[in-house]
Amino acid sequence: MPVRNTCDKMKRVAEIRHLTGQTRDELVEFVTGLGLPRYRADQIFRGLHERRIRDLDKITDLPKDLRSQLDQLATASTLSVESRYLSSDGTRRYLMKTPDGRPVETVFIPTENRDTICFSSQSGCPLKCDFCLTAKLGLLRNLTAGEIVEQIIVVLNDVYGEGAETPHGTNLVAMGAGEPFLNFDNLIKALEIMSDEHGLFIVPGRVTVSTAGIVPKIREFATLERRPNLAISLSAASDELRDRLMPINKRWGLDDLMSAAKDFEKTLKRGERFTFEYVLLGGVNDSVEQAGQLADLLMKHDLRRVKINLIPHNPAEQLDYHPSSPEQVMLFKETLESLGVSAYVRTPRGRDIYAACGQLAAKEIRGSIMSDANELKLAL
Ligand code: SF4
Repeated sequence: MPVRNTCDKMKRVAEIRHLTGQTRDELVEFVTGLGLPRYRADQIFRGLHERRIRDLDKITDLPKDLRSQLDQLATASTLSVESRYLSSDGTRRYLMKTPDGRPVETVFIPTENRDTICFSSQSGCPLKCDFCLTAKLGLLRNLTAGEIVEQIIVVLNDVYGEGAETPHGTNLVAMGAGEPFLNFDNLIKALEIMSDEHGLFIVPGRVTVSTAGIVPKIREFATLERRPNLAISLSAASDELRDRLMPINKRWGLDDLMSAAKDFEKTLKRGERFTFEYVLLGGVNDSVEQAGQLADLLMKHDLRRVKINLIPHNPAEQLDYHPSSPEQVMLFKETLESLGVSAYVRTPRGRDIYAACGQLAAKEIRGSIMSDANELKLAL
């Protein structure tokens, strides 16, 4: 696409309002600013979230001339689905694209009792976890609240049909591309919009936010009144190894991270726990000694209301790591349990459809982002 056209398109997108990312209050302000009665905001909100409509012209309880007027000023959808992969186990992976060509990966994971959608909070990621493909893209940009909400709407519509009920209820995990706590405000706004009982009605208790360890934001998150569940991605129990696997550890080392985790633990309600995630990398962090080190770390910081999610690594050609053997995974789990730590193994899903986070974006988009970026650089 010529540079001028790309710039024009981006300018128009920046000017029009993405209504899917507006809170009820913002919608009221928007419609009253147009001289419309407040109840129009409720009609728009329900159309976008309860009925999951992605085209303003289809919100037919609004008069036709109002729909045309809105169409000039606002939009209900900005993401386009570039590709969609269906696994033999029912997992669906989506590569979406923002209007400025940034990749957004989202995954639908069905299980017998509930469905889970894993969404992205950023396009690319600025952190440089050594076992992660998304890291290779760097940060492309933060996603807007609307782009976060829209991922869920796109997936639900694809799986169940536009506006159709979701039979199992839906859990959300912010474990796709990006570090959610580096896009904190947009994330929290999106979660607020999605929790509305006349909308998607996905309450915070059904949401888990996973951080690589942005310590000040863990503390801020702890103060939220209606907050989702927390998962902290650990993957190593020594600073030396974690510095290598997750360089964010050089900024906030294990002592800082565990102390924030302890403060978070103190705010849990009765019966609640939180999670540490541990990606198991064959021969790197999966020995019996390292399981003992992990249990010691939790004990040292008196962390008792936690569980460990052991995540077998999803291999990808561009990464230098391989998954632990199933026997080693079991040994690691049993070692933790023998030391009094609850540990669960996450079943790998969708391994036949580019399961590693960032794999779709790296596979299909990288070339075009790089050429877009070069075009823009040339245009400036
Ligand atoms: S693992 Fe998560 S935080 Fe780390 S680079 Fe990948 S997307 Fe970013």
